[in-house]
Amino acid sequence: MADLSGLNLRPQAPVDWDTYEVGGGVGPVPPEGEYWGQAPQDFTFSATEEGALQVLIDPITLVNVEKHPQFEGYPVRFTRASNKLKTKKDGTARNASMMGDYLLSHGLLARPQTHEEYAQAVEMTAGRVFPFVLGNEAYCKDCDVTLRGQQIGKGEDGLPLTEVLCPKCNKTLRVNARVRWFVTPKA
Ligand SMILES: [Zn+2]
Repeated sequence: MADLSGLNLRPQAPVDWDTYEVGGGVGPVPPEGEYWGQAPQDFTFSATEEGALQVLIDPITLVNVEKHPQFEGYPVRFTRASNKLKTKKDGTARNASMMGDYLLSHGLLARPQTHEEYAQAVEMTAGRVFPFVLGNEAYCKDCDVTLRGQQIGKGEDGLPLTEVLCPKCNKTLRVNARVRWFVTPKA
């Protein structure tokens, strides 16, 4: 057995091997702003509860990053967009959807109307590069509370904090990079 008696060791903190956290720790998160993203090669389609077509665009890879080049290749995870029409503040439908915004951010000329046409148009974006606005978000699923932007704060390096406390239950929440909106030609 190795003789460690000469080493200046302190008592080791206990680890619960049953709930061991596999994988990397909490890495830096890209700050909010406009970025270029590269679409994945494959998309997963599903139906929302309301029967709209929803696509999972995962991951969106940051490319051509100028201001914060350390985030070149950063994967923005779990982006979903549906073709359900957005609603105005008065509850009436807008002539726009998140999926429509996604397609327009690619400058696609397709004008889909059916679910099949939407899916076909989304598949044409595979591997293509498009502009979007990235936001920082931390979500507490116990309290259904989402912290965004200014509520998250920055570290000494000027980057967003990687962890924040839930204002309701005080649990540590991980800060994630999310698509805030797709940049369309008129936006
Ligand atoms: Zn909470």
